[in-house]
Amino acid sequence: MAPPEDSVANPPPEAEEAAAAGEANTKPISTILIVMAMHTEAAPLVSKFKLVEDPDRSMFPKGVPWVRYRGKYKDLDINLVWPGKDPNFGVDSVGTVSASLVTYASIQAFNPDLVIDAGTAGGFRAKGASVGDVYLASAVAFHDRRIPIPVFDLYGIGAKQTFSCPNILKELNLKVGNLSTGDSLDMSPHDETAILANEATLKDMEGAAVAYVADLLSVPAIFVKAVTDIVDGEKPTAEEFLQNLVLVTAALDQAVTQVVDFISGKCISDL
Ligand code: SAH
Repeated sequence: MAPPEDSVANPPPEAEEAAAAGEANTKPISTILIVMAMHTEAAPLVSKFKLVEDPDRSMFPKGVPWVRYRGKYKDLDINLVWPGKDPNFGVDSVGTVSASLVTYASIQAFNPDLVIDAGTAGGFRAKGASVGDVYLASAVAFHDRRIPIPVFDLYGIGAKQTFSCPNILKELNLKVGNLSTGDSLDMSPHDETAILANEATLKDMEGAAVAYVADLLSVPAIFVKAVTDIVDGEKPTAEEFLQNLVLVTAALDQAVTQVVDFISGKCISDL
């Protein structure tokens, strides 16, 4: 049945929103936001895409250490942000709190068509991961938010499917697996049980937080994660992480470049 004429002339707000989202999905992607947690991970991509640090910091609150690199690559406006060095401790501001804040502020400021959370992760050998493998995460969840009350438990875990991009997967040689996020580099026995329940192949400290913010603000997000250390292996995680960081970062950056090359000239619905 045809809709009454009135609803065509004055579509309900939800219909307008859906139409706008549909339109956004079929126009070429023009602005992307790459979120990275560590300077070592970001530096090679900054040079690869010839990005420059934006001296104008007015889009961020005064005094925050967050850094925005920007530039034009092919037909894309690229914004690469990392939360910078912690003002008190001088180390990279890794983890969910900084990642959420910088993602939120950057989506507000740059209005990206797509968010790419790119970084390193621990991998589970039992799930087929090896050091140097690069994954596109199929789902994300938290493993250290324990709220044993019905429904709050599910809120804490916050499991989400990521934006599906079958064509990127068809084109690029990336592995696929679930990503589990928590604020610790090591793994407590509880974390281990929760990660297993999340059916995760990967463990990081930012992914599910970036996913939460992107979802909240209705921006599609994808997660490119390279394995620096084997969580269920023999080597201590911190040692293995540091040993492999630079080498694995090269694999990560190559994969991100391939993803960005693929995205260029495409619409969200082509991914
Ligand atoms: N010692 C490091 C600390 C980095 S924390 C330093 O030199 O600064 C680890 C970073 O790598 C986080 O951003 C996290 O997302 C990722 N990561 C790599 N392996 C991980 C693992 N096994 N567990 C959790 N996060 C991991």
